[in-house]
Parts: sequence; structure tokens; C-alpha cells
Amino acid sequence: MSELRWNPVLREWVITATHRQERTFLPPRDYCPLCPTAPGGFETEIPEPDFEIAVFENKFPSLRREPTEPAVESHGMYEVRPSSGVCEVVVYTPRHDTTLAEQSVEHIRRLIAVWTDRYSELGALPFVEYVFIFENKGEVIGVTLHHPHGQIYAYPYVPPIPAREIASARDHWERTGECVHCAVIAQELTDGSRVLVEDGHFIAVIPFYARWPYEVHILPKRHLGALPELTNEEAWSLARALKRVLVGYDQLFGFSMPYIMALHQAPTDGEDRPYVHFHLELYPPHRTADKLKYLAGSETGAGSFINDALPEEKAEEMRRVLPVEGEVE
Ligand SMILES: [Zn+2]
Ligand SMILES: [Zn+2]
Ligand SMILES: [Zn+2]
Repeated sequence: MSELRWNPVLREWVITATHRQERTFLPPRDYCPLCPTAPGGFETEIPEPDFEIAVFENKFPSLRREPTEPAVESHGMYEVRPSSGVCEVVVYTPRHDTTLAEQSVEHIRRLIAVWTDRYSELGALPFVEYVFIFENKGEVIGVTLHHPHGQIYAYPYVPPIPAREIASARDHWERTGECVHCAVIAQELTDGSRVLVEDGHFIAVIPFYARWPYEVHILPKRHLGALPELTNEEAWSLARALKRVLVGYDQLFGFSMPYIMALHQAPTDGEDRPYVHFHLELYPPHRTADKLKYLAGSETGAGSFINDALPEEKAEEMRRVLPVEGEVE
């Protein structure tokens, strides 16, 4: 059972997805559904002995191409819609005990090609308005499978955080004639104290307004709205910048850093939005090696983040461990 329920108070959709309770939860390694199926072995989601990157539809989707009937009908101010959309799983590698940070720049470049393909194909579906590519990594983030993988949710609406970013980008564009992200990039490059990586076409920065201690944003210097607009050169630059940030994360505390990675791109609802600037955001929950930041009263109840670290100091700390240009392969 799955449906979309409208919250008229916050003006946003909530997805109910009760069937997800039966999801596979941290299976033993021999029963990993994301490993290639071994000859004569347990049948996984991938009936191939080997692959480079695999994409398939999530077995426990919150959104479906052919959604089930909602459990209740719209009534009064409570609007209900079928939960149409697509949920995909992107398996980064056939190897179980590794991470995206450990993949080569070439493999990350291949992943960017997969993301681009999925963005275009899912975005072209008539019921899809926003293609959201993300990764939840680490048990503290709540992952249910250890095998390195990301996910894609193709929503039938523009979800709240991208919608809010887009609304402010539009407002900034209309008032000043410039893109808010291009302006942020220019200001960060002039200042320099929070910049982690400058790789030709992309920069990685702990933004001035970071909400998490080690929050990193990776942005193309050229103004563009979505992955398909990247040139080959730019895609390589993104692969190198992402690799350096991920390796830097792992070198901070000497363990594989958990994080949430989110790609923010132009919606695919057919509307032209020249003010959208593609970027990737990473939010690791760690404040220190053994302390996590929890979303507590101010963050969850009021939506106001408290960052107990200075982005300038965290950027300095990260720059000390980041691989230098040309050091990653
Ligand atoms: Zn596995
Ligand atoms: Zn821009
Ligand atoms: Zn964003």
C-alpha cells in the first residue's frame, strides 16, 4: 500500500509506504541481494556473474510506475493521489566490501554517465517532475544494505528542498539578473577560505552557510541546470572533484565516512527554469570521530540548523587531508 497525502499546513506531499516494513535489513554477506548471482548460489537482484554498474527498480518502492489504489480517497481539504513515480537502485560495483570513495576516477566518470542516462530517461516519463539521485551511506544514516549503492527517486512533483532552492534562485534571478549559485561560487572563490577543491570546471566548498560541520557542495563553474548539459571534460572534472572529497572524508578520522549525498538538478516537468544551477551536496553526520550530529529540537521542530563548527575551520581541517590535484586516479 502506498499513496501521496497532501499536508495543507506545510503544503507538501507525504508518501505513505507501509509495505516497506518487510525490507531486507542488513543481511549477512552471503545473502546480499546486490552482489552478482554466484553460479549455483542464492539468486540476487542481479542475475549476472559480473557487471560494471547495475541499475534496477527497487523491490520495495515508495513510488511506482503503476501505483496501487490509495487506501483512502480525497476528502475535505485532504487531497490523496496515487504514488506514481519510479524508485531505482544504482549498484556502484559488483564488489561487496568497498565504497564509492575507493573507486577509480574512471569508474566515477562511468557512474556520472549512468546518472545522466537515468536523469534523461526517467525525466522523460510523463508522470515524473523531478529526478532525485542520492546515496545514503553508513549504518548511522540508516542504510539497510552494506553493498555500495545509490538510489534514484523519480517524483511526480518537485520535492520541498529543491522547490525552495529553485524559488529563491528564481527570485534572485529576477531581482539581480544573475544566478544565485554563480554568485555564491564567485564569492567563495574570491574569499578562498572554504574552498576545498578547484578542478578546472568544478569547485568543492564547505559553504559559508553550511548546516553540517563537514557539509560539502560540489558545483560546476559554468552555469548549467542538469547532468546532460555537462561536456565530457566537465564530467571528468566532476569525477575528480568528487573522488578527492570522498577520499578526504575517509582520511579525516581514519574510517570510511558515512554521509548523505544529494544531487540537485532542474525539474523535468517541462517548465523552462534558466536560473537552476546543477550541484551535488554531501552531508556527513559526524561532528568528530566519535560524535554524531542529531537533528534535534531546533532542526526538526523549527527547521533551524545549529552548526557547532565554523565552516572556515572545518575547510582548513579537510584541506590538510585532501589528496592534491593529480594525486587521485
Ligand atoms: Zn553485496
Ligand atoms: Zn549559475
Ligand atoms: Zn542544493
